[in-house]
Amino acid sequence: MAESPFFCDHGYFLGDVLKTVRVRFAPSPTGFVHIGGLRTALYNYLFARKHGGAFILRIEDTDRERFVDGATENLISVLEWAGLIPDEGPGSDGAFAPYFQSQRTGLYQEYTRQLLESGAAYYAFDTPQEIEAARQRARQAGNPFMKYNFTIRHEMNNSLNMTAQALQQALDSGKPHVIRLLVPEGRKFEVADEIRGPVVFDSREIDDQVLLKSDGFPTYHLANVVDDHLMEITHVIRGEEWLSSVPKHLLLYESFGWTPPRMAHLPLIFNPDGSKMSKRDIQSLDELPDGKVDPDVASYIRKGYEKTAIINYIALLGWNPGEGDDRQVFDLDELVHAFSLERVNKSAAIFDLKKLQWLNKEHILRRDTAALTAQLQPALQVAGYGEVADDYLARVIALMKERLYFTGDFVKLAGYFFADPLAFDEGAARKRWQADTNDLLAQFAGAIHRLESFTAAAIEEVLRQVAEANNTSGGKLIHPIRLAVTGVSVGPGLFELLELLGKETVLRRLKKSMEIIAKMIA
Ligand code: GLU
Repeated sequence: MAESPFFCDHGYFLGDVLKTVRVRFAPSPTGFVHIGGLRTALYNYLFARKHGGAFILRIEDTDRERFVDGATENLISVLEWAGLIPDEGPGSDGAFAPYFQSQRTGLYQEYTRQLLESGAAYYAFDTPQEIEAARQRARQAGNPFMKYNFTIRHEMNNSLNMTAQALQQALDSGKPHVIRLLVPEGRKFEVADEIRGPVVFDSREIDDQVLLKSDGFPTYHLANVVDDHLMEITHVIRGEEWLSSVPKHLLLYESFGWTPPRMAHLPLIFNPDGSKMSKRDIQSLDELPDGKVDPDVASYIRKGYEKTAIINYIALLGWNPGEGDDRQVFDLDELVHAFSLERVNKSAAIFDLKKLQWLNKEHILRRDTAALTAQLQPALQVAGYGEVADDYLARVIALMKERLYFTGDFVKLAGYFFADPLAFDEGAARKRWQADTNDLLAQFAGAIHRLESFTAAAIEEVLRQVAEANNTSGGKLIHPIRLAVTGVSVGPGLFELLELLGKETVLRRLKKSMEIIAKMIA
């Protein structure tokens, strides 16, 4: 087992050496930013901040076939949006630059030469047809899962089976070839994963991985290991889908004579129905197929989720603050303090849209009213409510905040604070309007008309008095008044609402609406 580290404010002690934590997010920009990708970035960021280390962004763009224009820019802008600003990455210079793997190909070729010289790698000239023929042979021999490794390498077209002269000739004539890792037979590779504990691999499960492709570009495995070493990465924190690559990486570290970084593989994230999250299933967030969710971070941003809620939710996908700590709502700084790899789960996480929605509401509640006012003022104007005084809007927001699941719903839910309602909920009207309702409301209107100070408490007092005088319950008044004044049957506390609307508006609306509603249900 690897020596266990001891963390302090300035890094961590490995034995008695103090090391600065250096972690990286190393995406391959092949399109949209996946929820799982943002979680990997977030956990790396939290770990770096928590331990006073560096968070590095490295773009793994050596697979030219999968390259998508604009994907890198998109990725960087999502990280910026999320506030996960790398300490080093594209645009930084210094000893570790460049941070685009496509700009480091010379390095990978250089390190491949080292492996060839030490015998840890070899040239392979097999054509796709030759590989297919070998696969056929294996299939016929009852092995449907052929691996290019010790089982067949002796019968293939590679430098292990060539004389030095034949090899030289093949190279001189420019014969297309790849460089493969020579995986020894009968070896075990063990990693002490920070999350999963010890994991052991047998070299039988591994193939002689292609390290350098015929176009001179490295594969993920080579470039990833070389860069993690050169960039002095101390902890590799990434998705569980990379766990099976670990033995190849360990063999590479060993072949180079380098110490591998510590590793932590994060649990997978699944759809509610247990399937893999895929963009193919999804049209939009509003029409999700049963059991599926959207893996694309941009969809949640577009839908208007609070940034802090998305980050908070993603943090909880596979991590919790620990026993005895039942907090669910965190901002980024609180996450930095609370986060630890020990609290990351081993088992897969299930994406729960309801929980994200709940967190969104919680984060809106935590927001500063002045900031919400500034955000929502333009939306009111777009909706045609004209210029609304900031202090009035702020009071409306304070009253409505706890009813908001999305800030984008505000205008729809709160329109009656800015204009008299034109439509009334007919179902509610039929339920609440009774023979004596108009009379009760007229008495209430008369009583509030006489009020000098139009406060919630005074209005409530008046309402109770009218109810008592008519030998009836408050509810007989409360529901119709709300409906008459707002057009709808739900909303914030009625007395605060009436106070905020003001006496004049309330009286005007009561008068107007009583007639409309009476007619509507007649
Ligand atoms: N480029 C890999 C990816 O797309 C990086 C995996 C790793 O972190 O090693 O996720």
